Amino acid sequence: MSIEKYIRDIQDFPKPGIVFKDITPLLADAEASKACLELLINGLKDKKIDKVVGAESRGFFFATLLAYRLGAGFVPVRKPKKLPFTTITATYELEYGTDTLEMHTDAIKKGDRVLIHDDVLATGGTAKAMCELVERLGGEIVQCNFLMELTFLNGREKIKQYDIFSPLKY
Ligand code: AMP
Repeated sequence: MSIEKYIRDIQDFPKPGIVFKDITPLLADAEASKACLELLINGLKDKKIDKVVGAESRGFFFATLLAYRLGAGFVPVRKPKKLPFTTITATYELEYGTDTLEMHTDAIKKGDRVLIHDDVLATGGTAKAMCELVERLGGEIVQCNFLMELTFLNGREKIKQYDIFSPLKY
């Protein structure tokens, strides 16, 4: 089954010049979601993943499904002031300014084998910050896993030391 046709391009969202990759048609279709999960999980079943770390907010959808299927825990990485317990913070550069992500201090145990997941790899800033948070708590990154990659932004370069998986390229 081809899942590409369930990903909708929205021109100029959230800002002029951006083509937003909308996965809600994919999420709304049971067969397409199932096919997508199978694609993402391929090659991971024997990797002994302890935690799947998902990025707010569209990374949460498949990260929780992956965690369930892999018998792993799910860990949310969120925008500032959303998580209720004590957090560690990573700040990364945007084109104009910076952005910050947070994770609970007890979310990863030393030695945990971690899968990083997000829907889109764009500039790589989000993924790099997630890897930094996991490693600061002593976790080991097994793979950075994305549904799709915007190759022209070269986000791979920022996380090139890790195994990167993204079945769809634009
Ligand atoms: P980046 O940090 O630049 O790699 O951006 C990745 C994050 O921004 C992911 O959490 C994506 O959900 C979101 N994102 C970036 N660009 C797009 C896009 N064109 N369409 C949908 N989401 C995007």
